[in-house]
Amino acid sequence: EGKLQGKGRQVTYVDAMDQRSAEQSRLAADLRIALDTEQLYLHYQPIVTMPGGELFGVEALVRWTHPARGPIGPAVFIPAAERTGLIVPLGAWILEEACRQAVRWIEELGDAAPHTVTVNVSARQLREAGFAGEVAAVLERTGLPPEVLTVEVTETAVFDGGTALTELRAIAALGVKIALDDFGTGHSSLGLLRTCPADVLKVDKSFVDDVTEGGQQAVVVAALIGICEGMGLRAVAEGVETAEQAAELQRLGYRYAQGFHYGRPMPAEAIAAYRPAPARSRIAA
Ligand code: C2E
Ligand code: MG
Ligand code: MG
Ligand code: MG
Repeated sequence: EGKLQGKGRQVTYVDAMDQRSAEQSRLAADLRIALDTEQLYLHYQPIVTMPGGELFGVEALVRWTHPARGPIGPAVFIPAAERTGLIVPLGAWILEEACRQAVRWIEELGDAAPHTVTVNVSARQLREAGFAGEVAAVLERTGLPPEVLTVEVTETAVFDGGTALTELRAIAALGVKIALDDFGTGHSSLGLLRTCPADVLKVDKSFVDDVTEGGQQAVVVAALIGICEGMGLRAVAEGVETAEQAAELQRLGYRYAQGFHYGRPMPAEAIAAYRPAPARSRIAA
């Protein structure tokens, strides 16, 4: 009997695994179609300077409106795309679309255009030999000056494979900026700073949250700004949601921030109209 029960459990476990991978492959199959039928688009979230909240740059974030299931978040479909390898063509599309938009902003807005456009690049993309060559080709095709593009990677992506660091160095050599995302949450964030070319540290939201909540991690936020100043890196505080957080970050010396307090990810047209909050209240007054 015990044997039967055990067998039953095993079947249930296998079923659950099957269901999950079936869901993953369904998602990936739908995503493949989405890529060809304009269900995917990019939103852009402001990266601002403090204290004024002026637009400094943007981060491109991919969006998917599934014809039957409605909006599906990137936290759900990017992992599926990574597992199936679909992230390679998907990521190529995202990179080119973001670069084209960056050129459009420069043409339309001149000096008021975002100074930098940040694009997320996943581990799987970075592992593709020749990825840096693809970045160079996109810059060439779109005419975007390399220094306007920032490639955003996570620590795990850089450590993921042998060639990731090589590709990243080749990308940096083009003049493209490198941002390390979710900084401080990985296993050897500080070690990474020795080997990896980096221009920007994005201090993870979990640390930012602790700044006003008296959490233990608040000291990390204070320490990281010192490291960035010493190493000539730009520190960007991620996930800033309140005026209190913004004020405390400024007090600690932060000059760049990104978060719902300043603006949610929005369509490209809304970026052209983006104005810092203080300017809006001056107009209202
Ligand atoms: P990420 O690169 O760390 O991007 C920041 C995420 O935090 C975005 O979620 C953004 O909307 C969210 N966020 C920004 N400010 C706030 C805030 O104040 N509060 C809160 N609660 N959240 C905030 P999103 O767009 O859902 O993206 C999630 C993740 O999916 C990204 O994390 C990134 O790892 C991945 N992703 C998104 N777009 C792309 C893409 O185009 N390519 C790749 N490879 N990955 C992407
Ligand atoms: Mg990221
Ligand atoms: Mg990001
Ligand atoms: Mg992040």
